[in-house]
Amino acid sequence: MNKSSFIFYLRILLITFFWLWDISLGAQNMTPFEQNGHTSADYDQIIKYYQTLADQHKAVHMEIIGTTDVGKPLHSVTISKDGDFEPASIHAKGKLIFLINNGIHAGEPCGIDASMMLVRDLVENNSPLLDSVVLVVIPVYNIGGVLNRNRFSRANQNGPEAYGFRGNAKNLDLNRDFIKCDSKNALSFTRMFTRLDPDVFLDNHTTNGADYPYVMTLISSQKDKATPPISSYVESQLLPSLFSQMESTPYLMSTYVNVRSTPDQGIAGFLDLPRYSSGYATLHNTISFISEAHMLKPFDQRVRGTYALMRSMLKSMHEQKAAIQQARTLAKNSFLRQDSFPIQWQLDFSQKDSLLFKGYTAKEKESNVTGKPRRYFDHDDPYEKHVPLYNHYKIVQRVEAPQYYILPQAYESVIRRLQLNGVRMNRLRQDTILEADFYYITDFKTSQNPYEGHYLHTQVKTETKRIKRSFYKGDFMIEVAQPAIRYIIETLEPEAPDSFFAWNFFDGILMQKEYFSSYVFEETAEELLRNDPSLKKALEEEKSKNPDLEDNARAQLDFIYKRSPHYESTHRLYPVGRIY
Ligand SMILES: [Zn+2]
Repeated sequence: MNKSSFIFYLRILLITFFWLWDISLGAQNMTPFEQNGHTSADYDQIIKYYQTLADQHKAVHMEIIGTTDVGKPLHSVTISKDGDFEPASIHAKGKLIFLINNGIHAGEPCGIDASMMLVRDLVENNSPLLDSVVLVVIPVYNIGGVLNRNRFSRANQNGPEAYGFRGNAKNLDLNRDFIKCDSKNALSFTRMFTRLDPDVFLDNHTTNGADYPYVMTLISSQKDKATPPISSYVESQLLPSLFSQMESTPYLMSTYVNVRSTPDQGIAGFLDLPRYSSGYATLHNTISFISEAHMLKPFDQRVRGTYALMRSMLKSMHEQKAAIQQARTLAKNSFLRQDSFPIQWQLDFSQKDSLLFKGYTAKEKESNVTGKPRRYFDHDDPYEKHVPLYNHYKIVQRVEAPQYYILPQAYESVIRRLQLNGVRMNRLRQDTILEADFYYITDFKTSQNPYEGHYLHTQVKTETKRIKRSFYKGDFMIEVAQPAIRYIIETLEPEAPDSFFAWNFFDGILMQKEYFSSYVFEETAEELLRNDPSLKKALEEEKSKNPDLEDNARAQLDFIYKRSPHYESTHRLYPVGRIY
């Protein structure tokens, strides 16, 4: 054995030792899961359990961080070795903050039970990992969902024997709610997230989809969308360290298996838009992950796999503290110097990598139910081979950042969300007329059916005009060069996929408010055409191109009306000005 292999094996031995050491000593405060391996704690058990730990240990602090749609409080549990629970002070001491979210999809509770064990094991063993990291756990996020306990809603999932429901008390999927914040849960979360400014964030889930041997899969926030200093650190140091640690546990981990057909046809990177937890965290330059334990593995393995992953993250953070701090500082500063920002990305199928993947061969047989061919994954026919990995997202749209955005106070729900995200804003001290660039919304598509309580706009197209508009005392000026810059741009630029415009916060501008009566407008139209030969020419040209217009008197009058001073200039005028 050469020296490097010796060090490698020694490392694995030590990792396994520390990992087992903390588990084996955690005999007190058994969780409901540990009593039989297939029970997930219910809401009361979860809260009571953490309250007991907080009563027993000075390093554990449980607090209410806000309310939720179901009316019950949202809790966080902070584990801080020196008993300092103030985020600003923790950062000032050079410690890292690791935020873990659980039960956002309450039917996927692995993280709920694993976090209960992890917190206990860390404090009961006075773990050295807490020397450099303060852990903040949301015991359960979707409280309405976890109270809606059932045994059936996860049709394909292998246990636990009872679990919560995906929708919350308003039947919202909270993992699409981080920008629109329709739920009180999301508003409470946002307030806490801004205060914490976590260095690393993990949201625990259970996956759907194909069958393969891995117990755990991991989504790392899309590298081409994250700020470059963060993606280069995550790709070169953090991910290799996480995968290597997981190899020394019994819980195999793969990158998230996002497939269109079967894994051997190719795995694609996931574009975590800001509506998702990890995409949201990325807007604030937090290193972010979503864990997806594999639904077909027994609950016992999924909980322990999630535990192992969280512990590996803590250990990597402990070891790579300086690199994490440096990457985040660089990321925050790089954005202050940049003047053009990407807002849309697309998977680039022309670039592919290869991933060594363990799978089960996908086959077809006749269905006993329908008599038609059905897919199955043959456990007797496993493979390990290189499969295509498509994980390059190309930027398809950028915007030039203005120096300021100016936002009328009328849009108070937008203002509230900006404030909760720590966006610094100044208010106009007097009424004024400002010349700024404004977008007209020239085109967009809207979903036919409601999506998470909204009729989401996509494929938004705009045209810029420089105009003078009145603003009033109390309207908001937002300087773009500030730490929340990505959040500001990706929510206020209407063409960004998760902009407030896309989520219907500005729909008032899309409806014309005044019209005309054809019989009255006839004379006005006649005069307009007489006085403006170019308008007459434009009408004639349009008629020759468009026979429907030729045959439609009202449409011809409307064509003239829309090009006259009578037509309202605010129709489709996006009211957020940009000052350069
Ligand atoms: Zn989920």
